[in-house]
Amino acid sequence: MADLAKIVALCKRRGFIFQSSDVYGGLSSVFDYGPMGAELKRNIKNAWWKSNIHDRSDIYGFDSAILMHPAVWKSSGHVDGFTDPLVDCKACKRRVRQDQLKNLKGSIGECPECNAKIDLKDTPPRMFNLMLKTFLGPVEESASVCYLRPETAQGMFVNFSNVLDSMHPKLPFGIAQIGKSFRNEVTVGNFIFRMREFEQMEIEYFVDPKEDEKIHQKWIEDRFNWYIELGINKDNLRKRAHEKDELAHYAKACTDIEYNFSFGWSELEGIANRQDFDLKEHVKGSGKDFSYFNEKTKEKFLPHIIEPSGGVDRSVLAFLFDAYKEEEVNLKPRVVLGLNKRLAPVKAAVLPLLKNRPEIVEMAKRITSDLKKHFYVVYDDTAAIGKLYRRQDEIGTPYCITVDVQSLEDKQVTIRERDTMKQQRISADNVLEYLTKEGGF
Ligand SMILES: [Zn+2]
Repeated sequence: MADLAKIVALCKRRGFIFQSSDVYGGLSSVFDYGPMGAELKRNIKNAWWKSNIHDRSDIYGFDSAILMHPAVWKSSGHVDGFTDPLVDCKACKRRVRQDQLKNLKGSIGECPECNAKIDLKDTPPRMFNLMLKTFLGPVEESASVCYLRPETAQGMFVNFSNVLDSMHPKLPFGIAQIGKSFRNEVTVGNFIFRMREFEQMEIEYFVDPKEDEKIHQKWIEDRFNWYIELGINKDNLRKRAHEKDELAHYAKACTDIEYNFSFGWSELEGIANRQDFDLKEHVKGSGKDFSYFNEKTKEKFLPHIIEPSGGVDRSVLAFLFDAYKEEEVNLKPRVVLGLNKRLAPVKAAVLPLLKNRPEIVEMAKRITSDLKKHFYVVYDDTAAIGKLYRRQDEIGTPYCITVDVQSLEDKQVTIRERDTMKQQRISADNVLEYLTKEGGF
């Protein structure tokens, strides 16, 4: 398995991910997606949107605002309960999470940063809310406080009636969205695994309470298989059901899908049975009726919610880890990203063997623009062919198409496949058909 440092280096070298504001020394645990990372991330989100919304007829896409009425976060429990107990270390002046003190016995533990002794009797833990606060309007006063959402879910819960009244779905049905969320985490790290600004892919699936357990199990299977279908090695993925004492107070059950990163098994997605907690709290907070009427049985009730909630950035990291390979080819090392072809940032690269021969360049550019009508293809003549191949291998480009002197005469090009490095000559006119068939683009 690749170690994290190699993935981070590849991401910088090949334009996937950069430290935010790095010319100013960087902003801790915030990252920017570069040209290749933006494509990879978009392809992952598109695959999720297709399989959960467009391929089904029971889930609607959604796109709620990041800013919401502060009362939402009161009802959801985030204002009072979304907190970590923190302790100040007098020695190194850092603020650390109480549960991360080392060798905690009774009230005495050690600072995880500097190992100094901390006595909780002298420095009692203080509750610290993880929501990022901002102010709406020109006056910075408590009446104008707003939060950057810590999850996308609430935007869908509070719109339950709007979707019900405008789309008229029957249970079970879902609302799904992809969007940014923010948490002022004290402990961040492992590259893009835990960040303060991150992106979620969440589905709120509303069910009849009598069917919740069966549907929950189905979602666990479906979401697990989604990662496998997109190329994650089954041995690196597992399901882990939460223990009773680990469950959030509103959840009846929750299963995480975890990936075996170099830093240990870690959560990519949680699939929770939230029961009617969320709708019930918003009924209480807003005074509005969120109930569903079953016309067949004439029953009126609050639907229960099954929530598959995944992290986009964590998925990006898992797909990168899983695809990263180092090989030896002709006694030279080769790094290749064996990404699923659907996820690969660039589907094909067109490379002229000689960039000082105008006829070759022209033919290569013509092939590029023809292919571009169908999928993302790049033209590259900025290095010798060996270097260009290496660059595309590290990006995970499934196919390279090379135009050479011979091509001018026989109108054929060389297609090289990423994983096998097999090369074959085919007619330039058949390149699109070949890529569509072999690549499935
Ligand atoms: Zn310390």
